[in-house]
Amino acid sequence: MARTIFHDEQRWTNWHLSVRDVPIAGRFEILNGSGAASLAGMKETAAEIQKLIGRAIAERRRLRAQGAAWSFSEAPAVPGGWCLATGYANWIFPLPETHVVAEFAGDRTGFFLAQMGVAVGAFNRFVEARGRSLRTSGASNGQTFAGAMSTGTHGSAVDLPAIQSQIVGFQLIPSPDLNLWIEPASRPVTDGRMADAMGATVVRDDRLFAAALVGLGAFGVVHSVLIETRPIFLLESWRQRIPFSDGVRRAMTGGGFDSVDLPGPDVAGGRPYFFQSVVNSHIDKGFAYVTAGYERPWDPGHALSYDLTNKRAPGYNLGVVVANILDAAPGLTPPITKLVLQDQLKPMLGKTGSWGQSFNFTTPRAGTAGASIAVPVERSLEALDIAQRALARTGKAPLAFACRYGVKSPGLLAFVRHPRTCILDLDGLNSDRARAAMRAVLLDIRAAGIPNAEHWGKMNELTAASVRDSYGADLESWIAARTELLGRETEYVFGSAFLDRLGMTNPNW
Ligand SMILES: Cc1cc2nc3c(=O)[nH]c(=O)nc-3n(C[C@H](O)[C@H](O)[C@H](O)COP(=O)(O)OP(=O)(O)OC[C@H]3O[C@@H](n4cnc5c(N)ncnc54)[C@H](O)[C@@H]3O)c2cc1C
Repeated sequence: MARTIFHDEQRWTNWHLSVRDVPIAGRFEILNGSGAASLAGMKETAAEIQKLIGRAIAERRRLRAQGAAWSFSEAPAVPGGWCLATGYANWIFPLPETHVVAEFAGDRTGFFLAQMGVAVGAFNRFVEARGRSLRTSGASNGQTFAGAMSTGTHGSAVDLPAIQSQIVGFQLIPSPDLNLWIEPASRPVTDGRMADAMGATVVRDDRLFAAALVGLGAFGVVHSVLIETRPIFLLESWRQRIPFSDGVRRAMTGGGFDSVDLPGPDVAGGRPYFFQSVVNSHIDKGFAYVTAGYERPWDPGHALSYDLTNKRAPGYNLGVVVANILDAAPGLTPPITKLVLQDQLKPMLGKTGSWGQSFNFTTPRAGTAGASIAVPVERSLEALDIAQRALARTGKAPLAFACRYGVKSPGLLAFVRHPRTCILDLDGLNSDRARAAMRAVLLDIRAAGIPNAEHWGKMNELTAASVRDSYGADLESWIAARTELLGRETEYVFGSAFLDRLGMTNPNW
């Protein structure tokens, strides 16, 4: 039988130690029943979650699912409430082709249901062994799919939206008596048998889907997600330090790749699948570290081994990079930052692997910090310039900038929200200076009037006003969808201090 175990813990700290010692009323861990993965077992686990929600209501406790607790922000924190650890609820099921609705026009063969505790890396291994692949994901893959979708995690697949764009339906448990399978009415995929086997009621509703997709844990517990995959492919990755030329500038502002000599084979006006540019005038003036990844056909002879210690994957996270300074020397000076950066951004010459091999597990380091701000791609250089100036003004800080790219992503609160978006990553050490510099950068970009939205799962300067500026009517729609779905009690239960502060949930019972 599925069960929950209560841990009498009074303090909660995230994985990265950027949010520490949050007073909580305890931590529940949810476990599937023993035996093989089954939809009947999923139904039992869903019932356990419903029971727990009932208990939270009875005891007037807030309840918040957490994934890998990889968010640097307070998004998974639940001061005074109960934290629900989901990592052991990690079954994966292929959706039989025959369970896809007849009118579905796309590829019917590549849908997989992932339970809430499934990490992106585990999902990659499962589907790649079956000849399928994710289209996109973040730089590292220790997040859970449910957690990554809930904050709108992105990568740098230049023509694709963020990770949640691959989710075509999800199972949401918002109350003791509701177990819902939510799909968009405009593109339903499942015929209802899978939902039925899990005890879920099918709800086809575009607005609810879009609202709860980037739901920040505030709509209830997402018990499982249905992920659309593509046929497996190879990514050939190249990285080089090249002059920060007009061609690079053009590529960084969405002007295409025709006038830049990207690392790797001559793509003759073609576009890379993956593009990332790291430009830091305070560290290496006049140069850009450019990573380009090209899609290649799958080679059946390619070995699917996963190197868990790979630290130079194409989409590496600069926070981990700069954290190596901690190991290298305590004096956090620009020359050291430069050395570490050059080491971690060593040239990559056609490294080829599956998607899951390319974006591997990174061990997060305590003491690192990351913020990201999404701006329209046309304004990326303006934002970067503001960032450089803000950093110069606040003084020497162990901080570096990276630009990643994507397109407008589904989810009312997806922060990758401009038609073509540049995500400016600010990564460094979690020191007073770095945090002051991050703050200055974020506030200066905001003050410059550049349309922007901050990453929900990273360090941020979010306020009720800034969230309203970023999301406008979409925020109102998100709030309305939540109010319509939840009752007074569950509205409280699935709120949090973080969201109360932003005027998105109600602190009162
Ligand atoms: C090393 C590292 C690398 C990173 N790289 C990237 C990157 O490349 N791109 C990027 O965009 N971000 C990146 N991030 C940020 C990270 O992807 C996000 O913060 C992500 O949300 C973390 O997922 P998680 O599973 O740890 O969720 P958590 O941090 O545990 O939770 C995030 C949110 O999801 C909610 N949630 C989690 N599970 C559920 C559930 N089952 N039901 C309902 N709500 C739920 C939580 O309540 C919370 O609001 C990185 C973070 C780290 C530490």
